[in-house]
Amino acid sequence: MSEVQVKVPDIGDFAEVAVIEVLVKPGDTIKVEQSLITVESDKASMEIPSSHAGVVKSLAVQLGDKVSEGSVLLTLEVQEQGAGDGAASQPAQAGASAGAASAASPAASPSAPVTAGSAQAAQAVAAPAPVASSYSGHVDQQCDVLVLGGGPGGYSAAFRAADLGLNVVLVERYATLGGVCLNVGCIPSKALLHVAAVMDEVGHMADLGVDFGKPVVNIDKLRGYKEKVIGKLTGGLAAMAKMRKVTVVRGYGAFVSPNHVQVEETTGTSQEKTGNTTTIGFQKCIIAAGSQAVRLPFMPEDPRVVDSTGALALKEVPKRMLILGGGIIGLEMGTVYSTLGARLDVVEMLDGLMQGADRDLVKVWQKMNAHRFDNIMLKTKTVAAKATDAGIEVTFAPAEEGGQVPAPQTYDLVLQAVGRSPNGKKIAADKAGVSVSDRGFIPVDVQMRTNVPHIFAIGDIVGQPMLAHKAVHEAHVAAEVIAGELKGDKDLAAAAFDARVIPSVAYTDPEVAWVGLTEEQAKAQGIKVSKGLFPWSASGRAIANGRDEGFTKLLFDEETHRIVGGGIVGTHAGDMIGEIALAIEMGADAVDIGKTIHPHPTLGESIGMAAEAAHGSCTDLPPQKRR
Ligand code: FAD
Repeated sequence: MSEVQVKVPDIGDFAEVAVIEVLVKPGDTIKVEQSLITVESDKASMEIPSSHAGVVKSLAVQLGDKVSEGSVLLTLEVQEQGAGDGAASQPAQAGASAGAASAASPAASPSAPVTAGSAQAAQAVAAPAPVASSYSGHVDQQCDVLVLGGGPGGYSAAFRAADLGLNVVLVERYATLGGVCLNVGCIPSKALLHVAAVMDEVGHMADLGVDFGKPVVNIDKLRGYKEKVIGKLTGGLAAMAKMRKVTVVRGYGAFVSPNHVQVEETTGTSQEKTGNTTTIGFQKCIIAAGSQAVRLPFMPEDPRVVDSTGALALKEVPKRMLILGGGIIGLEMGTVYSTLGARLDVVEMLDGLMQGADRDLVKVWQKMNAHRFDNIMLKTKTVAAKATDAGIEVTFAPAEEGGQVPAPQTYDLVLQAVGRSPNGKKIAADKAGVSVSDRGFIPVDVQMRTNVPHIFAIGDIVGQPMLAHKAVHEAHVAAEVIAGELKGDKDLAAAAFDARVIPSVAYTDPEVAWVGLTEEQAKAQGIKVSKGLFPWSASGRAIANGRDEGFTKLLFDEETHRIVGGGIVGTHAGDMIGEIALAIEMGADAVDIGKTIHPHPTLGESIGMAAEAAHGSCTDLPPQKRR
């Protein structure tokens, strides 16, 4: 026996990420690629696999620790090489496909930030491939491509495949297409956030000389507006599916073999089963079955305990609301409820809210939003909750030894926003021979292909970040590869997910948006960056809007001079971050961005000026050192 220290492998564009779960303990016997810990970046989590097999001797990390590539996780007792257990002698890549992601990425270059694709591939760690079942029963219909799940990933894949001339069946259990994003995620939350932002804005107008008085909220009408927005978009998708002759089959799909999915038909607004089943045969399949909210096991079954879907239902406005988990989804919903009149508490295990974003960005949001919160409980765990007549009584404990213990509190509404878990274990993937990780993620390569060559997977089910725009891009890749292979088009068949960066946005007020490397990540990865920062207190447009609290910052690699990251805090930050993502994808430097003429006076101008600030030519700021 010898001892090996297992370290965090290359996990792509992630550094200083917090440990939110330790999945092994001393004495456990573990396999190569077995998940050891879960770390959380901004919206959710990723698993870190073991590079070796052996017995855990001691752990080097605990909950709440921050880790980066190279951090020691644990010490393992392993059999000597040649002693017969086949333990890997080389540290494994994080995920079978992580290495392939960088190698196959046309955009990858030594100067480029690690591709988003490699980070995503890193988190879905392959379990041993299951043995597929065979199916010889009745087949009701046959198609070129079956897409399982009609969310942003699924419908985009189905539509792209149909546009490329394939015969497509899209299986969705709910009555409408659009998945979490359109029905209970991105869109309804933004409809409500829009209303909240207007209410807050109107509230400030009295200071500018126009007083609209106190708003009167009709909650039924507000809910109706949100439903109308959803209906317009999901109705549009149904029409577009028809135009493309995509066959939508309503029901719960599960594999019965590597080439067949059986669908238990559903009806109504929920998932009531009709008792009928349909079996669909396919040449190729794209799994896009998404994710669902994590529910803490000790939370009581009570209408006053909700997840994001329950919060979006907007039944009533509570007096006191607890947001469990200080990530983007919780804080967005908190913004809505607080503007409508609720007082907020937030409890977060880590040492700051909105993890993943640089602290300077978050600080601006936190200062502007301090008035919404009675208690911000950081480094604190929720350990118990019970339903009483007075409300939901919640008990807390410090996340670290020696920390303060907040007193139990009673709330009218508790929102659980502690992350989302993938649906990989709910589709009988094993019957198709598709590997699923311990946590339910499906590992894929850069072409979005699973371990079964004709079955692809995309969206939340393949890993972080769980974002709609990532799902859509992955969807197009999978559909193009499939069309290329079925139609013999080599160019299409070579499609790959090679995005360098995936932007993140908190649609709070002010909005916080970031893309590429953060300052914290650059530091942790030893990349020297120069910063161009433009404070909005110098922006004519921000001042005219009465909202000059924000700033725009750009980070440039000191060696290559290319932009590697950027962040914006301020109104409409989310609408502007795409320009920084484009600059990173194009390998732009500060001169490229600064010399691009931005219209005046706009908030977008702050991006050009941040670039000018980086090379010392900004005349809208006090004199800078000449460069
Ligand atoms: P999903 O949207 O989860 O779709 C999967 C679909 O598959 C669902 O319709 C489901 O019913 C169906 N399905 C699952 N299993 C089966 C089965 N066995 N048979 C048939 N059908 C099945 N992302 C952003 O980018 N921006 C945002 O602002 C944003 N805001 C969000 C706000 C909230 C409150 C939440 C919860 C999420 C938000 N997200 C946001 C995340 C975004 O919604 C997801 O990343 C996105 O929906 C993932 O798309 P998907 O296609 O992978 O999966």
